[in-house]
Amino acid sequence: MRPSAVTRRARAGRPVGFHVSIAGGFAASVERAVENGCDAMQIFPGNPRGWAHSKVCGPEAALFRERRRTAGVRCVAVHTAYLINLATPDDAAFRRSIALFNDELEVAEAIGADFLVTHLGSPLARDSAFAERRVCDGLAAAAAAGLGAKTMILLENTSGSGTGFGSDISVIGGIMDRMAGLGLETGLCFDTCHGFAAGYPLCKKADGPALAKRLLSEAGPGRLKLIHLNDSKGALASRLDRHEHIGAGRIDPDALGAFLNHPAIKDLPLIMETPKDSPDDDPRNLAVVRAMLK
Ligand SMILES: [Zn+2]
Ligand SMILES: [Zn+2]
Repeated sequence: MRPSAVTRRARAGRPVGFHVSIAGGFAASVERAVENGCDAMQIFPGNPRGWAHSKVCGPEAALFRERRRTAGVRCVAVHTAYLINLATPDDAAFRRSIALFNDELEVAEAIGADFLVTHLGSPLARDSAFAERRVCDGLAAAAAAGLGAKTMILLENTSGSGTGFGSDISVIGGIMDRMAGLGLETGLCFDTCHGFAAGYPLCKKADGPALAKRLLSEAGPGRLKLIHLNDSKGALASRLDRHEHIGAGRIDPDALGAFLNHPAIKDLPLIMETPKDSPDDDPRNLAVVRAMLK
């Protein structure tokens, strides 16, 4: 029997966890992640607001994988730096973005991460068709470098603020189709705050199953792999990317519960990127979510 099968049997239900810091090293993040009984985690591989390339040496990557295995963490996601812009019309910025993206994907594969989550950037004054082509070229560069086979690249929907690209799931679905045609399987990470802010309603209970069905049809079957579970400070279609504690924002808790418990969603890992203003925040959000899950 594979060790993962043992772990899976030992833990009931879907993997749930938080974005955590890697202060003190990659391996130290595992302890932080499993506090409160969590078994899913997300990290930045370096400074998310800088261009410095993160690195992980062989022994540190091995230590992370070992700690993860013994702690029973079932889902590890790595989130790319925010400066990466795979949709940019600026050639130098595009090359710099690809270099950092590939580096972060390499780190994700070295530590055995399941997913690399990335935003799609901004085409600035150019249109959506340009952005789609550019993102596909950027992802193809990762595949050409031999990356993306061990760790799956997930495209995250955004709130659609400013010239940001990637708030329309059907457009992301088109990119995933194109990449599959080039031999690179990618998936969708759906962020509930970004989706709500972009106009995907979660205002009444019936919106939950409707959203699940819509995501499946717009992204394509089997493509939705991970949920970023965040409430929204901004109203529906406000385009505001401001995460709120679960149940304390503008998303209706009944709608959110019905979405999370929909048969097509109910086994997907949940990772919260909720505010961490006090040590009580994570345990409280976790308790609210556990109470929502059937
Ligand atoms: Zn994100
Ligand atoms: Zn997110």
